[in-house]
Parts: sequence; structure tokens; C-alpha cells
Amino acid sequence: MRLACAEINLTALNHNLARVKELAPGSRIMAVLKANAYGHGLVTIAQNLVDADAFAVARIDEALALRAGGVIKPIVLLEGVFRAEDLAIAATSNFNVVVHDEAQLVMLENAQLASPITAWLKLDTGMHRLGIEPNQCHDMYTRLERCVSVAENIKLMTHFACADDLDDGKTTEQMALFFDSIKGRNNELCLANSAGIVGWPNSHCDWVRPGLMLYGVSPMIDSTGQDHQLTAVMRLTSSIIAIRDVKAGETVGYGSAWRAASDTRIGVVAMGYGDGYPRHAPNGTPVMIQGKRFTIVGRVSMDMITVELGYDDSVALGDEVELWGPNLPVEQIAQFATTIPYELLCNITPRVEYKYI
Ligand code: PLP
Repeated sequence: MRLACAEINLTALNHNLARVKELAPGSRIMAVLKANAYGHGLVTIAQNLVDADAFAVARIDEALALRAGGVIKPIVLLEGVFRAEDLAIAATSNFNVVVHDEAQLVMLENAQLASPITAWLKLDTGMHRLGIEPNQCHDMYTRLERCVSVAENIKLMTHFACADDLDDGKTTEQMALFFDSIKGRNNELCLANSAGIVGWPNSHCDWVRPGLMLYGVSPMIDSTGQDHQLTAVMRLTSSIIAIRDVKAGETVGYGSAWRAASDTRIGVVAMGYGDGYPRHAPNGTPVMIQGKRFTIVGRVSMDMITVELGYDDSVALGDEVELWGPNLPVEQIAQFATTIPYELLCNITPRVEYKYI
């Protein structure tokens, strides 16, 4: 029997990339692969996204791992770099840097690089996380333009805070501020994350930056990937490793947190928070066995969860259990666990075996 396995469907991955192209036909695609490609496996995902134009990661180590894995496309460092030695590495490795504050600009001004580096100037239009003030754009741009270490084709970007909600006016405000701040320039632009791609066509411009949707997960609130013609890439599975009867009134698991209302059967599944399954998944969180939904009872422990099988005696030792995937959207499990699908996907631990299909 196969324990704790993340089956990664590369056909689904490329279907989702094609869906990005369909939604944003005029844009180039910078596929976001940070955090181990959202838990899907950094290098393998990059190698299989042959139609992406560039990749984006958060940190330089992730970019170096891509190069070590033979990936030759441009790689954008979304957080930029913070040390001169990293800037030198970024230049020789053909990474693009995001410049989001003055310290990074000063570093570029003082740098003597082997070859000029491509820079993305990032404007903070309302996220208030990374980015220069829009009213600094003119000055910072002019200084960047004068840097001998910076390649001529400076690009401009911003990031949305609320694009997952079509009723939230903030995205329109962010776009207006961005376009107003860069008026008169004809640089390449990049605004849209997955939610921008799905919900805000005016944000598409020259480049789009899909992350979550590539993995088949909905970037919009209250929907699943299927609602946006996306296909789940990850199928997280494990197996039933024990089946036991419990009598009415008996409890199951740590803290005796669940008590059987009547005589029933419990299936023990080899999957716990040590694999990345959310510990806060409550009683009632669904799993799929033989195409049928069963629910978790008792607390999630490090290596196991317990599922009530009731009177369904068709479930047997060794049966496969789907924790999330095409038959059980990760968006739903995230809702049960009061978190977001991003976190569930990123939290898969090294103990889980990866199988690419
Ligand atoms: N761009 C930036 C700057 C990001 O930080 C992220 C992810 O958080 C993305 C794009 C991709 O976002 P999403 O996964 O929602 O498409």
C-alpha cells in the first residue's frame, strides 16, 4: 500500500497554463514557482511548463536551484536581493531583480556587474508590503536608468491586495494609481496575479504572474478551480492502515475529543500534520474512499487521522484515501481548516512521496 503520496498531474498543469493563455492571450507568462512551486516540486514543475516565458521565485536560493536543475529561462526574484554578493550572482545567473526600495537601488548604483541586469521597478499601489511610493516613480526610474549595471529595458510592476474579490473596489483603485504613476512611459508592465488574470482583464498588460491557478486552484473567493475551468494538479492520498470497531460512548484520538454516538467503525489513515495535513481540520472534514465521502472524527495527529466508516463495510485495509485533489477540492479542505489553499499546498512535508504522472 502507498502511504502519504502527492500525485502531481503534469497534463493538468499544462491545461492550466493553456487556460492562462486563453484568459490573457496578449500577455507573456511569468509562472510563479516560489515555495517549491506551491508544494508541487520546483524543478519538475519548471521543466514541464515549457510554454511559460519566464519564472518567478521569492528567494535567490530558489532561483539557483532552478538553474542547477537545468532551467534556462529568465527567472525573476520577486523580493529582489539584499546583498551585493547576491546581486553579482544574480547578474551572472541571468536573474531579473525586483527593485522595491531605495536600498536596493543604491546597491545597483554602486555595483560593478559582469553584465547588466534586468530590473523590475515595483510600485506600491495599495498592498503596503513591498514597493516604492508611486510619487517616487519618476525619480527612482531616472536613477535606475542611469545605472550602468542595469539593462536598458526596465520593467514596471505592482501587486494586488484584494483581486480575489470582484466586489472590492481596491483593485480598480490600484490599477488607476499604477497607470497614472507611469503615464507617458511605454515599458513592459506586469500587474496580474491569478486573481487578476481570472477577474480583472484590464490588468493583463504585457506580462501576467500566475501562481495558484497553475496548480488548478481557484484564486477567487467562494469558488473552486473547476468553476474557472482549471484542473487540480495535486492529488494527496494515503491508505487505510487499520480498521476498528468502537462502541457507542467510546472516544477516539488525543484528548478524547470525539465520542461515538452509536456503535460504529473507524478507519485509521496514514496521514497527519507530520505530512502537512492541517492539524486544525475539524470533525466533519471530508475525505474520499472508493469514490465516497467519509468524514474525519477526533483530532488530527502527527501521523494519522481517523475517519468514521459507520456501517459501510466495503472499505478495507489498504484502501486508498484521497485527502484532496480532483475529487475533493483543496479549497474545501482549506475552508474546513479555516485556512487558504496556498498554505495547505506549501505545507506538504518531505516525508510525502511525489509521483509525477
Ligand atoms: N506576484 C507576486 C508578487 C506574488 O507575491 C505572488 C504570490 O503570492 C504572485 C504573483 C502569484 O499569486 P497567485 O498565486 O495568487 O497567482
